[in-house]
Amino acid sequence: MSFDPYLARRDFPILERTNRGQPLVYLDTAASAQKPRAVIDAISDVYERHYANIHRGVYELSEEATRIHDGARETVRAFLGAADVREIVFTRNATESINLVAATFGRANVGPGDEIVISGLEHHANIVPWQMLCQEKEARLRVVPVTDAGEVDLEAFEKLLGDRTRLVAISHVSNALGTIVPIREVTAAAHERGIPVLLDGAQAVPRFAVDVGELGCDFYVFSGHKLYGPSGMGVLYGRAELLEAMPPYQTGGDMIESVSFEKTTFQPPPQRFEAGTPDIAGAAGLAAAIDYLNGLGLDAIEQHELELTRYGTELLQQIPELRMIGTAADKTGVLSFVVEGVHPHDLGTILDTQGVAIRAGHHCAQPLMERFDVPATARASLGLYNVREDLDKLAAAIRHAIELFR
Ligand code: PLP
Repeated sequence: MSFDPYLARRDFPILERTNRGQPLVYLDTAASAQKPRAVIDAISDVYERHYANIHRGVYELSEEATRIHDGARETVRAFLGAADVREIVFTRNATESINLVAATFGRANVGPGDEIVISGLEHHANIVPWQMLCQEKEARLRVVPVTDAGEVDLEAFEKLLGDRTRLVAISHVSNALGTIVPIREVTAAAHERGIPVLLDGAQAVPRFAVDVGELGCDFYVFSGHKLYGPSGMGVLYGRAELLEAMPPYQTGGDMIESVSFEKTTFQPPPQRFEAGTPDIAGAAGLAAAIDYLNGLGLDAIEQHELELTRYGTELLQQIPELRMIGTAADKTGVLSFVVEGVHPHDLGTILDTQGVAIRAGHHCAQPLMERFDVPATARASLGLYNVREDLDKLAAAIRHAIELFR
């Protein structure tokens, strides 16, 4: 059966509500996705029927909770095409996953004069942890330039790779522009020189199928809440041999093997990196989100969003006062733009009165805004539940705002 977004919309209870008295047009999925009933039910089910702390209990309830939590790790492993569940570390979000790698792999492998390569279209989450690490280690952050279309300049990228490069950290899909970065070329160029690659997949995993083996990356991070799952639940995939060699991140309960006042030994990955009680119900919610997406088919979702991205782009380009920011040949899910004479924040506020929820601002990508010489953009971002009518309403609301400011 082919994917029907109108049917899928019925799975999302929140889409029945209004926004400022108008039917809700939700176009902020890049910030966070709405949740299907299956995810909400999976979380409630844990709290209503299976909840206890995990791993330490000898009673039935704790064993059930442990099975649910640990079972979610297998669901994530299969989702990412990872070889082994030990390669899947649960975190709070993509931000924490990146900080974990910077604090462990980074501190252990980066020294004075070394270099870390990122791109000019990164989210702050994939800039600041590396910048801090470089400051601490007297290392250098190198930034691959972005073209006028919002693409990563691959030629410049290859030239930046050198003997001192210790890691490449790059987005799979840009949250501010929707650009899909050609990852296979990135990993091939880096691996030719023996450099590991971390991919920020926060905007990629909700939009198309990802296979870490096929991409050839060493680390892959994402957030559950952007994948139609709960907030507070994130993932770090790391190649087994890299995780094995990494020191702990946070320390405390659950990540130790034995503790005495003289010495502590640690669990192997992934437990080594998961100190303290995890988000037990969150893991169930994340697994339910993945099951839900698999049920719909990620390839179908990908086609749907690509078609909507094309439709939305054509529609917006018909507005003479509007300029698209980010026109990469390969892009998905994000329409970023500025409108002459209307500040993005004013635009966002006026659209809100029409029921249309978009984001206005720097999208946690200030260096990218600077690159395009704009303080902010308006950003409409798509989810599997969006339909053409949402984009028609967006375009009408933008025209209304332009009239108001005339
Ligand atoms: N990376 C990208 C590309 C993002 O879009 C985001 C969030 O917008 C993040 C990282 C950070 O995600 P989180 O705030 O869930 O950690």
